[in-house]
Amino acid sequence: MSENWKPSTRLVHAGTRRSQYNEVSEAIFLTQGFVYARAEDAEARFQHLGADEYIYARYGNPTVRMFEDRIAALEGAEDAFATASGMAAVNGALFSALKAGDHVVAARALFGSCLYICETLLRRFGVEVTFVDGTDIAAWRAAVRPQTRVFFLEAISNPTLEVIDIAAVARVAHEAGALLMVDNVFATPVFQRTLTLGADVVIYSATKHIDGQGRCLGGVVLGSQAFIRKTLEPYLKHTGGALSPFNAWVLLKGMETLALRCNAEAATALALAETLNGHPALARVLYPFSPTHPQYALAQRQMSAGGTVLSLDLKGGKAAAFRFLNALKIITISNNLGDTKSIITHPATTTHQRLSPEQRGVLGIGDGLVRLSVGLEDPSDLTRDITDALAVA
Ligand SMILES: *Cc1c(COP(=O)(O)O)cnc(C)c1O
Repeated sequence: MSENWKPSTRLVHAGTRRSQYNEVSEAIFLTQGFVYARAEDAEARFQHLGADEYIYARYGNPTVRMFEDRIAALEGAEDAFATASGMAAVNGALFSALKAGDHVVAARALFGSCLYICETLLRRFGVEVTFVDGTDIAAWRAAVRPQTRVFFLEAISNPTLEVIDIAAVARVAHEAGALLMVDNVFATPVFQRTLTLGADVVIYSATKHIDGQGRCLGGVVLGSQAFIRKTLEPYLKHTGGALSPFNAWVLLKGMETLALRCNAEAATALALAETLNGHPALARVLYPFSPTHPQYALAQRQMSAGGTVLSLDLKGGKAAAFRFLNALKIITISNNLGDTKSIITHPATTTHQRLSPEQRGVLGIGDGLVRLSVGLEDPSDLTRDITDALAVA
């Protein structure tokens, strides 16, 4: 059935399981345990878990399973495992696949906590990590060693919005016998067919667009059934990064409007990028679907839209960026993204504060750079809010 459905139909219906009451909206099974009629039934279930059977919510739960099946159907993945947060998903994917002596090649432009896992935690457990410029395919190839097991990257980097050629990196990874794991938050499950491009494992922070309304944390890892059930599940079910059934229900409801929200937000982001390009207060406007973006052609080939985030580089450095943020009336200062409310961040003093000025320089995160996550407000209101605040800056 769901194989023939188009993405928008999958977003609304895939994975639904109805109880004996035939409810319309998905039920929240807010239970950690499940009852067995007889001792023999418990014994049998511990021996062999059927496709839609449950033992304990750390291992699985019907509402969580609905969310996993729905996102797997959208992504075209064989299977999925949902987690308590995006970082539980990143941690689970990397630690379950690696052991001491292995080697990882990672793009250097990573979300702060992903960087901490690669730079500090994996190394503490004897996994070596080489960081490369993710846009440089020769650098990926040059970093390969006989022990290389995983390539890890963010499809669009935060906050400079560099686009990595997934198909090209996947070819290098597969030649090396390594798995390509992609943290796909910025590309969203709506705009990029990441598994089709060649990635082996796709990871989301569902906290971002999938909830998309600022309510809860969540995450998910998608991949082959063998990877999800044989590699990832044993790690996650025993280390406890399980998604709450209540949050799974919030995320299921978020998925119903995911494509509508992402498409509307991306259309506004593109319009804002076009309007703001060349503004006298701005040194640069960064947006993957802007013709001035360095990887415009790749972005057009790889994605159906440029995403819901754009970055602006103010000429006046930190002082101008702060004046700009403080003058905004609709767009709020916060550090989430993918929300229905437009949110603005100054990465150098918040999300990327931990990096040294040299590291920020390498990544192109200057003191004038601000990251704007575009919400569902009227585009003309956002344009006016931004241009009025730029006049103050
Ligand atoms: C937010 C984010 C994460 C972490 O997700 P949480 O749900 O906050 O744990 C990981 N990677 C990227 C690219 C993110 O934007």
